[in-house]
Amino acid sequence: MVNLRHRSPTTTLQPDTRRTGFMLDPVREARRQAALEAYHVLDTRPEEAYDDIVRLAVTICATPGALISLLDHERQWFKARLGVDVEQTPRSHAICDHAIRTPDRLMVVRDTRADARFAHIDLHLAGKPMRFYAGMPLRSPDGHALGTVCVLDTVPRDLDAKQREGLEVLARQTQHLLELRRYAHQQRRLLAEREAVAQGLEEARADLQRRNEQLQHSAHHDQLTGLMNRVGLAQLRDNAEAMSRLTREPYSLMLIDVDHFKQVNDRHGHLLGDRALQAVADAVERSIRSGDVAVRYGGEEILVVLPSTRLADAAEVAERLRVRVTQAALPFALTVSIGVAAGEPGTALAEQVFDRADQALYRAKSSGRNCVVVDDTPLLG
Ligand code: GH3
Ligand code: MG
Ligand code: MG
Repeated sequence: MVNLRHRSPTTTLQPDTRRTGFMLDPVREARRQAALEAYHVLDTRPEEAYDDIVRLAVTICATPGALISLLDHERQWFKARLGVDVEQTPRSHAICDHAIRTPDRLMVVRDTRADARFAHIDLHLAGKPMRFYAGMPLRSPDGHALGTVCVLDTVPRDLDAKQREGLEVLARQTQHLLELRRYAHQQRRLLAEREAVAQGLEEARADLQRRNEQLQHSAHHDQLTGLMNRVGLAQLRDNAEAMSRLTREPYSLMLIDVDHFKQVNDRHGHLLGDRALQAVADAVERSIRSGDVAVRYGGEEILVVLPSTRLADAAEVAERLRVRVTQAALPFALTVSIGVAAGEPGTALAEQVFDRADQALYRAKSSGRNCVVVDDTPLLG
């Protein structure tokens, strides 16, 4: 009984009137095609190393023509050729298509015209029709026949043992060249993949850093006004370098408090109260320099550190700010009271300076609000 399951798929040759008379097993042929494509050699430019192979082939075999032929889907394409004018033929005109069916053996057709399989093939060498063919298959390491190194002549003939051996050697050398090519292509692809991964990692890292910075910013800033919050101030005070920049030279502190803000909320509602706070923060931002630091210190209290600013200059800034608040585009009048105090260089935002500004603010409140009061107590008192 014939066991159909164990029939080998690799050796079946079936009649095929469409093409070369025989059809290769389609699965095996697809694998062969895939193996060929892995070399990325089809339709590449001529290369000296392959041209040298066909030059040697004609010298060794004393023929007027030689080819390195690769069998693509529907054609044979010549990576190198001598004596043949065309760079490809239909596969139905490829004796090499027959040669690759015995991938480990040289195929010799002494007279192509005398062989019914090849009588129709129309290939010319210097104007004369081909009559002789000898081709040694090229084999990939996993056994797929990719094409041949073949020699052609215009007269019926044969090769001697040395010539046959020479053609086999040249086929092996061609295969080495192809392997080098595939290896180089693989390396380039791996390198490109590695670069893509590295670039992806770098983008992820940059994205993470951006998010981290956003997170840090939102942790250190007040959502309503966009000013720094007390967490941000605490971090600033822990940063020796930033503190040294702020207090290296005589600096000033400003404490700003919105007047009768409770009433604003009560009369106009919290939403308008919020808008009023944003207007004050906006007036602060527009009144100070980029190196100054403004902090939403309490509900409606804002602290400003003005580095390298003497008391008189800080008082001017405060006054400008006070006026600006009165001009805010709000449906009700809004004013602030401001206390200003001077800080001695190197005193690292001393509580004492803060207390002075706070006392000045208190005095501004008790003297009728909507005014700036500058601390006038002796600095070393
Ligand atoms: P004074 O002139 O003496 O400063 O009077 P005041 O009403 O401003 O005094 P106080 O500091 O007691 O009131 C501050 C008010 O600010 C209390 C609180 O309801 C309000 N407030 C604090 N934070 C916010 C906020 O984020 N939005 C709004 N709408 N109101 C706030
Ligand atoms: Mg207050
Ligand atoms: Mg207030």
